[in-house]
Amino acid sequence: MATIASLRYRLAPKSSSKVNQALGSTRCLSSRIASCNQHFELFPGIEISSTSNSVGVDQNISSGTCSFNSNKKINNFVSQVLLSKRKCSKVHYVNTKRYYSSSRITFDKIGKGIKHETKKNNYNIHNSMDEADGRLIIVGSGVAGCAAALIAATRYQIPVSLICAGNELVDCNSYWAQGGIIYKNHDPTANDSTESLVADVLRAGAGLCQDDAVWKVAREGPDRVRELLLDDTKEPNFANVPFDRDENGELLYCLEASHSAPRIIHYADHSGKAITEHITAAAASHPLIKVVNNTVVTDLITSETTTDVSTASLSPTTCVGVQMMNVETGIHHNQLSSQGVILATGGLGGIFEHSTNPAGFNALGSSVGLALRARAECAELEYVQFHPTSLCIPGEARFLLTEALRGEGAILRDSNRRAFAKDFHPDGELAPRDIVARGVFDWSQNNRGKGHNVFLDITHRDPEWIEGRFPSIQKHLKSKGLSLTKDMLPVIPAAHYTCGGIVTDLNGRTNILGLYAAGEAARTGLHGGNRLASTSLLEGLVFGAAVSDFIGGASDGEEIRKLLSEEVSNMRLNSKSILETDRNVASYEVAQRNSKIAVWLLSKLRQTMWDKVGVVRTPSGTEEAVETLSLFREEACDLFDEAPTMETAGFRDAAFSGEAVAKAASINRKSAGAHYITDDVVEELDTDEDDYEALAH
Ligand SMILES: Cc1cc2nc3c(=O)[nH]c(=O)nc-3n(C[C@H](O)[C@H](O)[C@H](O)COP(=O)(O)OP(=O)(O)OC[C@H]3O[C@@H](n4cnc5c(N)ncnc54)[C@H](O)[C@@H]3O)c2cc1C
Repeated sequence: MATIASLRYRLAPKSSSKVNQALGSTRCLSSRIASCNQHFELFPGIEISSTSNSVGVDQNISSGTCSFNSNKKINNFVSQVLLSKRKCSKVHYVNTKRYYSSSRITFDKIGKGIKHETKKNNYNIHNSMDEADGRLIIVGSGVAGCAAALIAATRYQIPVSLICAGNELVDCNSYWAQGGIIYKNHDPTANDSTESLVADVLRAGAGLCQDDAVWKVAREGPDRVRELLLDDTKEPNFANVPFDRDENGELLYCLEASHSAPRIIHYADHSGKAITEHITAAAASHPLIKVVNNTVVTDLITSETTTDVSTASLSPTTCVGVQMMNVETGIHHNQLSSQGVILATGGLGGIFEHSTNPAGFNALGSSVGLALRARAECAELEYVQFHPTSLCIPGEARFLLTEALRGEGAILRDSNRRAFAKDFHPDGELAPRDIVARGVFDWSQNNRGKGHNVFLDITHRDPEWIEGRFPSIQKHLKSKGLSLTKDMLPVIPAAHYTCGGIVTDLNGRTNILGLYAAGEAARTGLHGGNRLASTSLLEGLVFGAAVSDFIGGASDGEEIRKLLSEEVSNMRLNSKSILETDRNVASYEVAQRNSKIAVWLLSKLRQTMWDKVGVVRTPSGTEEAVETLSLFREEACDLFDEAPTMETAGFRDAAFSGEAVAKAASINRKSAGAHYITDDVVEELDTDEDDYEALAH
């Protein structure tokens, strides 16, 4: 039977009575909302003038019929209904783009169903395969999503729907990468090799990396960079990124922390911008890749497979599509896929109060949220990497000061200008990232109450060279009245990268048939407890491409596609209800109110994550966080169920992933890599005998 993943998840047992008690004050928020959300009659009188360009809505009749002859008009119509603040409890809407032309939609009085017919073809959309069913669904337009899309479309001619939450494909974390991407330094004096990269990744990963994943990235990485970013295939479909080169046209390499050789290629200090602008342009211009922007995937559609999978030794649960919401119109619809679904939805750094990740939907934990609700396996979520050096200006969002600055000689100093990094590690500023982050954190605590105590200083290098090498950072600093060439810059750690995630094998397969993950969304085993600098863009390329090679090129991949195809056909024939079950669309007022509450609660959630699941954790702190976050999760589900908006969807994903991170951190009492947990501080009584006597009385 087909299931929307969130519905199934909600059937899970409710929280314990202790948690329910603690819930008290938060829960009353929901009841207040519920009392406002009565069941209003849908469209209490709508007349639609269907033939004009703009769809008109009138209040006089109790049911309406309209014809649309373009995609835009139907969206206009539904937005108008929503924006007219009409009190409606449900809008059932079926998005079948190719049926738009000359199609009729009928709303009944209570809005329970929309009968959808086409004049030309006259077939029932629920019982036939939709053209969109044949598309591979890729959620996420960062390096991982684009790599997967380009390989699927170019190598295997698989049509792709590339879905992203932002207005533009470049609205992703990949865009913000500063330092660069690992390639291979071919200069023999640099001492770079596959083996040395493997050794560096393993060392940074605190003994928790998975060897085969590390070797895969180290071996395949350079070819993927050449293929997808340097366009050495000369296929016009791939990107050609103008990385920095010397006067002879040779690539320039830089060193970053914990790397034994300079092997990172870059484009000044905005490598991510250069990479994503080129790779997203390549994806967007490919005729087989359809970009679906401004669209948030809210849940996965899974099914207990009806097909015999015994021969394939595959999971009985299949992922057959996604539920999604257009963030501009608020319209929800389901899209099925007989090719599979790839989650390239990034990490969860944005659920911490202090984060280097950009605001928006990019790092709100959708990957873990979607996976958990569908019962996909996630692991190693406690290993959230904190970047040691984010610019710390009170009251402002943190801004990353790239590792490459330390690679180029920047020094960590305290308020007395003393270089202190060698106090906590012999490699000083270039020690593994988790060690530097804790060193900076400790030092920042030392001077509590006496002003800021940790600074990054590169003023000793040539000002002209600095301006050329780090122009974007310098521009940002100047807007804050600071300068790389003149000032010691106040820094503090901030949440940066998710080492764990959705568990995948080397082909990006999850434990759910037809569901794949790549990039920061996935736990491939590459990073172990701590990510080596500049490995993540490379991981996105290698694993994004590997998923599509598996789907399009491997015999197992082919077999899965056959099974999915049968599953989707069965579903079209038998599970009419699942395709028709669209989300509630709350009244305008309730949607506004729930969204505001979600935004406010998200800020509280972020504080909890920072305070209790931050750089240094304690058993009691993480346990408290688990309790609080489970309440947030329940509240988030209620807010979303009543009014599924972008804000409530984002808060719900943040709550699911935050709770999962806190649980993982609380269960794992062994510090390693980015997960650092100390004993609780127990306040000891003064053991003076007189005091004991006093206590006894
Ligand atoms: C400031 C900064 C600097 C960095 N510098 C470097 C560096 O120098 N080198 C390096 O290797 N790494 C760096 N990283 C890390 C690296 O940028 C990311 O790990 C990597 O880009 C992740 O790529 P991705 O394709 O997995 O996801 P992202 O690029 O994060 O893309 C996620 C995509 O998923 C979409 N999405 C998310 N949720 C949903 C949803 N529910 N519905 C629809 N769409 C959704 C988003 O819209 C977006 O398109 C840096 C990160 C930051 C924040």
